[in-house]
Amino acid sequence: MRDTLVLNASYEPLSTVSLRRAVVLVMQDKAVVEQEHPGLRVRAAGVDMAVPQVVRLCRYVRVPFRQRAPWSRRGVLVRDQRRCAYCGRRATTVDHVVPRSRGGADSWMNTVAACARDNQRKADRTPEEAGMRLLSRPFEPTPGAALMLALGVDVEELPPWLASAAA
Ligand SMILES: [Zn+2]
Repeated sequence: MRDTLVLNASYEPLSTVSLRRAVVLVMQDKAVVEQEHPGLRVRAAGVDMAVPQVVRLCRYVRVPFRQRAPWSRRGVLVRDQRRCAYCGRRATTVDHVVPRSRGGADSWMNTVAACARDNQRKADRTPEEAGMRLLSRPFEPTPGAALMLALGVDVEELPPWLASAAA
């Protein structure tokens, strides 16, 4: 997998992201290419560009997310690619694994994307109590994913050809 270095608008290195994410940043006018890979190109419907080795953000971003991405419902849906953690179907809601009514936190490690049906079914219970199994464990977003979240770039909005490329 080929990673691209992302610089802040101030040229300060922020993070590396996958090629797929780097291309999206450029396509959505969030970043400009500072350095291209000699001889390598990304080619697909409507896109023909050199593989970016280094991109620079068009707008300066503050960088608290370098340590930790701030939790958000939208961020959980993006992190889980809008797939329900219980059934794998399309998710539109965020479920607290340990319910908030039982002291469960608004945190990356306690929340998962869930379809409305499973969220209602689980209600104020833990997965064990509800007899529901998590298909995957919640996790902290990687620095690259945190950067995309901070920039408001939804990786799910990727063109299909990119979505099927390296993650
Ligand atoms: Zn579901």
